Amino acid sequence: MAADASTLDVFSLWGVVTAVQANYYWVTLDSEHPASLLCIRRARLKKMGQRVMVGDRVQVVDPDWEGQRGAIAAVAPRQTVLERPPMANADQLLLVFALAEPDLDPHQLSRFLVKAESTGLEVLLCLNKQDLVNEETRHHWRQRLGQWGYDPLLISLHEESSWAALLPRLQGRMTVISGPSGVGKSSLINRLVPEATARTSAVSGKLGRGRHTTRHVELFPLPQGGLLADTPGFNQPDLTLSALDLGSCFPEIRQRLAQGACQFTDCLHRDEPDCAVGHDWDRYGFYRDLLAEAETLSSSQQPRHGGQPVLKHKVGDRGKIHQEPMLQAKTYRRVSRRRQRQALEDLHYTTLDTATDLDHLDDDSGDLIR
Ligand code: GDP
Ligand code: ZN
Repeated sequence: MAADASTLDVFSLWGVVTAVQANYYWVTLDSEHPASLLCIRRARLKKMGQRVMVGDRVQVVDPDWEGQRGAIAAVAPRQTVLERPPMANADQLLLVFALAEPDLDPHQLSRFLVKAESTGLEVLLCLNKQDLVNEETRHHWRQRLGQWGYDPLLISLHEESSWAALLPRLQGRMTVISGPSGVGKSSLINRLVPEATARTSAVSGKLGRGRHTTRHVELFPLPQGGLLADTPGFNQPDLTLSALDLGSCFPEIRQRLAQGACQFTDCLHRDEPDCAVGHDWDRYGFYRDLLAEAETLSSSQQPRHGGQPVLKHKVGDRGKIHQEPMLQAKTYRRVSRRRQRQALEDLHYTTLDTATDLDHLDDDSGDLIR
């Protein structure tokens, strides 16, 4: 059950869910010396179909300090919700790309950026491996991404001073890392939280599967405060946005609309009269490609179940249908009371009300049953 402010008793135990395994939840308690307890959900929460997600702030009762066990009695209202990976209360998305090895592909980067923007989370763009390129290349990308509306952080994991610039940006926040493979995400995570490697391999071993399943997500407390989550690796995010929603995922369009409105409120910024967005920007061609993709998608909409697409498909290069992990389906930025309530209603809606719902959620087959 969602707890309101009046039940946030200062003497009760609260913490953050850092991992979910079937019907068990690891909760790291708020304290100067954080302790973790393996918790079950109170029967009352199960009955209500209250889902508990990684990132949830929860109230823990009946602690057994020796056995490291406890029970979750309440879940605080969520600030944000990501569906894939299933995660509550993330503050920002750290998008990692490399300047070289692999070469920075503007189309791939744009796809990731649009996907990241669609989550509603703040986006922090980090370009790694700056040690492999010259100043001219760095300058080129800074400039170009500046035109796109981003201020990327250029780093190298091989240069102490540059990667240290990242630390303050993560401090005290819940960050989700994303990006294609080979850009240095694992190296980055291992540098930030050395115990991540040991812990995930232990978990993977026990469950008999790798950490990069589409449903598995784990939060790692950062030594300097804050939490970090890895996402499943994928090289080309699937975009299931409607044509109308696409525009809000481009900072260039947002900036232009802030300066003047288009004549039509449903303007798609193609060739409509009195369009405030126009065509004179670097990613305009890319925007048009995605618009065409969105229109193809909406004309071949997948059957829906509970308001959620049952399968998320992307039409591949040769017309092949791939099924890919989705970064998310819903988030709620800066929640008003109404939106919080809406978020909770939606969650009830998408939650299976049996006691075993979480068995499915942590399962690889989760993509097919959602
Ligand atoms: P992931 O697939 O995104 O998790 O990438 P990895 O962390 O596995 O890194 C891919 C490769 O890039 C590894 O060989 C790393 O040693 C290398 N790498 C990571 N960061 C840097 C960097 O800043 N500079 C250089 N030159 N190589 C890096
Ligand atoms: Zn327009």
